[in-house]
Amino acid sequence: MIDFHCHVDLYSDPQNIARQCEERGIYVLSVTNTPSAWEHTDRLLNGYKRVRTALGIHPQLAKERKSELGLFRRLLPRVPYVGEVGLDGSTQCLGYWEDQLTVFNAVLEMCEGEGGRILSIHSRRAVSAVLSALSAHPKAGTAVLHWFSGSFRELHRAIDSGCWFSVNEAMLNSTKGRALVTQMPKDRVLTESDGPFALAKGRAALPWDIADAVRAIATIWEVALEAAEGQLLSNLRALVSDYRVGAADVTAEPPKMPLPGRSK
Ligand code: MN
Repeated sequence: MIDFHCHVDLYSDPQNIARQCEERGIYVLSVTNTPSAWEHTDRLLNGYKRVRTALGIHPQLAKERKSELGLFRRLLPRVPYVGEVGLDGSTQCLGYWEDQLTVFNAVLEMCEGEGGRILSIHSRRAVSAVLSALSAHPKAGTAVLHWFSGSFRELHRAIDSGCWFSVNEAMLNSTKGRALVTQMPKDRVLTESDGPFALAKGRAALPWDIADAVRAIATIWEVALEAAEGQLLSNLRALVSDYRVGAADVTAEPPKMPLPGRSK
């Protein structure tokens, strides 16, 4: 199973979560909300083969943490995955929209400078602005829109721009979410928990709750559970192997979660 957007560092015992994911064979993209959190989290989770910690700067923290863009720049050459980054257009976040744009555009520009990254992107009420920023930075890498909640029109614009999607249980529990997932290209879908923020079974979601999401996806795709699992895994492999990453040291790291290859 795959959890492509999980805030492992925000559980009370991150290493226990990582250990259980290893035992259950779950690949985890551990996203972080600030560059300073990346350093700590990567140190904590570095030994787990299937866990990768992404470098992030969350849009809701853009105002208070834009001072950490320098740290982001220094760390980025070492990190093949970026997230959580993006834009949030909800009312309570519009007061610092300019800061959000500054931070997100700076992140995309740095990713371009490093030859591209795989990005886990927040786009709540801001899909159009996210897609515009991405199209202004065509070499920033591969965008995986996490917990997509835009319109059908925005979905198709995102698909046309080459975006991928990480899908969670909350989406699959809503009629609109399921309709969106139905229209996503099967070969660009991954699963995520967004734990511990998202809820599952009335408590903070855990990576292994993704079993339910996979079942729901199998139903939507009208395939057997094993076939859905196989498709999702081959999607992950394709994402990381089709990918071109400029950072020279990336492939030198020990094998953990599949890494972006330095292809063609
Ligand atoms: Mn998140």
